[in-house]
Amino acid sequence: MNITLVAGARPNFIKVAPIIEAITRQKARGMAINYRLIHTGQHYDTNLSARFFEELNIPTPDLNLEVGSGTQAEQTAAIMIGFERELHQNPCDLVIVVGDVTSTMACAIVAKKAHIQVAHVEAGIRSGDLNMPEEINRMVTDSITDYFFTTSTYANAHLKRLGVPESKIFFVGNVMIDTLMKHAPRFKRPPLWEALGLSAKQYFVLTLHRPHNVDHPQELDQLIARIVSHSQGLPLIFPVHPRTQTLLGGLQVSYDNLHLIAPLGYLEFNYLVKHALAVITDSGGITEEATVMHVPCITLRDTTERPETCAMGTNILVGNDPKLMETAFNRLYSGQWQEGVIPELWDGQTATRIVDHLIALFKSS
Ligand code: UDP
Repeated sequence: MNITLVAGARPNFIKVAPIIEAITRQKARGMAINYRLIHTGQHYDTNLSARFFEELNIPTPDLNLEVGSGTQAEQTAAIMIGFERELHQNPCDLVIVVGDVTSTMACAIVAKKAHIQVAHVEAGIRSGDLNMPEEINRMVTDSITDYFFTTSTYANAHLKRLGVPESKIFFVGNVMIDTLMKHAPRFKRPPLWEALGLSAKQYFVLTLHRPHNVDHPQELDQLIARIVSHSQGLPLIFPVHPRTQTLLGGLQVSYDNLHLIAPLGYLEFNYLVKHALAVITDSGGITEEATVMHVPCITLRDTTERPETCAMGTNILVGNDPKLMETAFNRLYSGQWQEGVIPELWDGQTATRIVDHLIALFKSS
């Protein structure tokens, strides 16, 4: 079986790493399974790309489409043109796409039009918010996917409601958590820990990159001011995403306890999250990681495509609502935060299950 695996952006790299390991293990056992890894170049910054390949031992991609930045349409078009050429030159039996970024959707469309089967890892999740480009990517990708690998019973239910036959839905768990569990013993205390005199449970980690939070300067300014006002002077460590940096550059954001830093590598970032009093974020993946590490997570969004992180995990949605934010911080300081439980099958074995299913499917076809 020849597989083409697509990765384009930071969260994708974290998701493909365990899939590549599972394929490699099966190959070493004599299974006729090969893969080509295609990096679309959607994220190209060293801190968002190369560093993850290095830290997570992801092999060098067979091809980098080097699409770079651009509008949604420009990136989608560039990825589609490059990926069509790739599939023409290197035909395969299956394309695996992960997550919900532009590359996920663009490559799924190209594969399907080339009559190649598509497997979507992290299928079926929905926020219901069509203002998020990711939601459109999820909907389009799932509408042409052949094999749906899901992280949660919520995702299974969505897909069933859409009429996807049960035989195409594979509830396997969460590949992001495979990576988290494998690398947890290697988490690294960053040099800033000493430099800022941090101590466990006495600081916050903050990340912001969703357009609705970072694309309007005045609102971003107010949001940060509100977070700082609730921080009780504890250090707020803010690894700034390049998208956010562009906007922050024009603002005079300066508070004694707010520390703006470059995006961190995976091992340092998750060390900080693990020991934080709480993480404040608009990321999707971080809500899952916080849940598994039992770290309180305050999410600056009104919706989530990962409701299990709220229902079972440590996540609370506060959106941009001052009252909800205040309630959340009060709950945190009074020690009332839910410890949460780890969702079903988030056990570090998801990629193995995915590859086992694929081998069985392609044997029988
Ligand atoms: N992450 C990281 N360094 C950082 C911020 C995030 O390694 O400075 C990791 C984080 O642990 C998670 C992933 O990046 O695995 C989340 O990516 P992002 O928030 O960009 O994407 P989303 O999950 O929202 O799609």
